[in-house]
Amino acid sequence: MAKNKLGLNTICIHTGEVKDEQFKGAISPIYLSTSYAFEDVDVIRYPRNFNTPNQENLAKKMAALEHTESALIFGSGMAALSAMFLTFLKAGDHLVVQNTLYGGASHFIREEFPKYGIEFTFTNGYHVSDFEDAIQSNTKLIHIETPSNPLLTITDIKGVAELARSKNILSSIDNTFASPINQNPIDMGIDIVMHSATKYLGGHSDILAGVLMASEPLIQEIWHVAKNFGGNLSDFTVWMLERSMKTLALRVKAQNRNAKKLACYLEQHPDIKQVNYPGLKSHPDYSLAKSQMKGFGGMMSFELADGLNASAFMKQLKLIKPSVSLAGVESTILSPHLTSHALLSQEERDNLGISDQLMRFSVGIESKRDLIADIEQAISSVKQQSNNSSLKL
Ligand SMILES: *Cc1c(COP(=O)(O)O)cnc(C)c1O
Repeated sequence: MAKNKLGLNTICIHTGEVKDEQFKGAISPIYLSTSYAFEDVDVIRYPRNFNTPNQENLAKKMAALEHTESALIFGSGMAALSAMFLTFLKAGDHLVVQNTLYGGASHFIREEFPKYGIEFTFTNGYHVSDFEDAIQSNTKLIHIETPSNPLLTITDIKGVAELARSKNILSSIDNTFASPINQNPIDMGIDIVMHSATKYLGGHSDILAGVLMASEPLIQEIWHVAKNFGGNLSDFTVWMLERSMKTLALRVKAQNRNAKKLACYLEQHPDIKQVNYPGLKSHPDYSLAKSQMKGFGGMMSFELADGLNASAFMKQLKLIKPSVSLAGVESTILSPHLTSHALLSQEERDNLGISDQLMRFSVGIESKRDLIADIEQAISSVKQQSNNSSLKL
């Protein structure tokens, strides 16, 4: 594919631009029209048909970034994921998926699949054999997510893709945490790539969107279903997303660098018990991560030493913001046991390895010394508070 010969930043900036033929402006004009002249029954241009000028053109950039032919832009990551599941799974079919899955995806499967008569198996997914053992005669799709949330576990992309192919099963991946800059699963044999564009692709914590990338025939199949569900993104937000994408590679590479430095700093810190970051040699899947990722990303999690309270720590942070979402240019942090995993029982959290001391950290592009100074002052304030309260006792 000739278009993939362009450099990454060139694709981010130029691929799929809408040319302003009339005024020769430097950026894509925005087409908000919901009504277009009739051309032909096969191309009725309408936002819900995913074929307005801004949608079609941004899809070209998305497809190029994941080294594939075609893409569809959705109103959210979950709209993309649900359209994909309900395209390739019907009543009587079976999905294999890993336990360490984005919460929303897990809820969708557990709450909605039974209504459609679709079967599923959640597997540990630490080894390719876990997926193989879960395959049934009616398995139609294997869906993975790597690096996972919040423990940053790594799934063997090539191994799963080869397994699926050998059994004539489709494979898909949630590639949100890696972004297309750090990981290109189509090159490793995966059929369909999904991103929550709310995260790195948008990158400024102001866009909710999703995207699916795959070969033209697979995207055609999804399109037939997706236009019935009506989960397209509004053209104004499509245009904002195109604007964000121009700096995607710059942002993600800066986040990779910052996260690596922060992970090393936290790892040697006496008040931090454990750091989960695939770019650290201490990560159990470091060599697998190295073989399938071009950069290790901006996401990590770490455990505060016993006695350091997670919510007290977050309250003391002045620069790093407590926030449930992730992947913006600003650094954000959350405590999974108080937020994303609060509805699970203590036992379920223990089984998943999510302790009360665990913090999920989305590293932004601020100067790294400011981030380190913020963590340093927060830890010493919390230690001082607990010293003071033990003195009073
Ligand atoms: C946020 C997220 C989603 C869901 O995306 P929305 O845009 O919120 O619908 C799916 N997967 C991962 C890994 C995410 O972080």
